[in-house]
Amino acid sequence: MYDKAIINGNVYLENGFAKTNIYIQGEKIALISDTLYEALDVLDAKGLEVLPGLIDPHVHFDLDLGFIRSKDTFKTGSKAAAYGGVTTIIDFLEPVDSYELLQNALSVRLNEARQTAIDYTFHACIKAPKEDLETFVKTVKLLGLKSIKFFTTYSESNRKTPDEAIKKLLDLSAQHNILLLGHLEDDTLIHHDDAFTYKDLLKSRPSVAETVEALKMIEYLKHSDGKLYMVHVSSGNTVEAILENGKRLLGLQLFLESCPQYFTFTDKVLNQDNGMLYTLAPPMRSKEEQALLFKRHHAFHTFATDHCAFNTSDKNKNKLSEIPLGIGGIEFSFGIMRNLLGDSVINKMTKHVADIFGIKNKGQIKVGHDADIMIFKPSKSIIKQHHGGTDYSPYIGVETSGYTIHTMVRGNYVIKNREYLEHQGKFIKE
Ligand SMILES: [Zn+2]
Repeated sequence: MYDKAIINGNVYLENGFAKTNIYIQGEKIALISDTLYEALDVLDAKGLEVLPGLIDPHVHFDLDLGFIRSKDTFKTGSKAAAYGGVTTIIDFLEPVDSYELLQNALSVRLNEARQTAIDYTFHACIKAPKEDLETFVKTVKLLGLKSIKFFTTYSESNRKTPDEAIKKLLDLSAQHNILLLGHLEDDTLIHHDDAFTYKDLLKSRPSVAETVEALKMIEYLKHSDGKLYMVHVSSGNTVEAILENGKRLLGLQLFLESCPQYFTFTDKVLNQDNGMLYTLAPPMRSKEEQALLFKRHHAFHTFATDHCAFNTSDKNKNKLSEIPLGIGGIEFSFGIMRNLLGDSVINKMTKHVADIFGIKNKGQIKVGHDADIMIFKPSKSIIKQHHGGTDYSPYIGVETSGYTIHTMVRGNYVIKNREYLEHQGKFIKE
């Protein structure tokens, strides 16, 4: 007798969909079989798709921007995530300049994340490092984390890591098997002008800043064995330049992430009356650049959200410098990307993420893996409501390929029949 069974579903296994049944014992997938066995709790998933729970590796819940915090907390954000079939997130620690501050940075986030409904872990973040980088990298690993994010921009808020330190980090990433995440924009090409309104966002953060910085990193990678994961690629020109200059690095040393917002919106939204609600960094690009993203979408290894949600009152300013940059979207990432790019997005939001970030026993429906499962109803429709903690979502009115009916985290339903059930997620530490 199994604890739970999900029967008659269209199940996404390693190489595609198959009609079969999943049996769950405790937190794990115990059996995948065409034969019907007894279970205490049986869910008939006829007509539904049974997929691995999504892993979103780029999330900012309760992010401290200094003058404001992002408005989805771990509690409200993880609820929205569960409604989207996301069962694991990777958020970020506060950027620090010394290994001595890492333990505290982790403790602070663990405390803030106590009410997360789904499983979670963190990327460490580095600023301009003060001392021995090797100790920094070793400390990150000792804390059970596997990745370090750096910024090549945001010098104005003292978050930029200098090039010499990035080069050293790349070498250390190979020696210590740690992944570097890069927010790549050439800081010298970012313009801050007090007269800028939100409509000037692309003048402030032009796509060439992203392209130039990506090309520089490709040159560094060619002289290193290090591994770099480029977050939130926004510009089609950047992808073209990477393919021209660093194609052989892809999937080996260089991994590319993009986000639903860059495939859904163009810079045109900034000219709407509520254009300030679509401000983020990097910004949505031109129609031409977006067309290139679609053309080159196979180059991406993952799709993540960079979820960083605010209320309309937080964003409702004219002056660019007064608007917190970031938008939410974790609830809709899969339905939207599936609608735009088809089944190729499934592995990019599950298995590839687990592989790249070394998350064990997640990302696939497989015997012995955690029973992290999303049950999806394919049904083209328009998004009408969201379940996050903010008063708007930019995705209301956007077309989706369907929606999640049930979400299970380690054998527990967190969403059942579109109803949210309280659940306590777990910090993944290895
Ligand atoms: Zn981010």
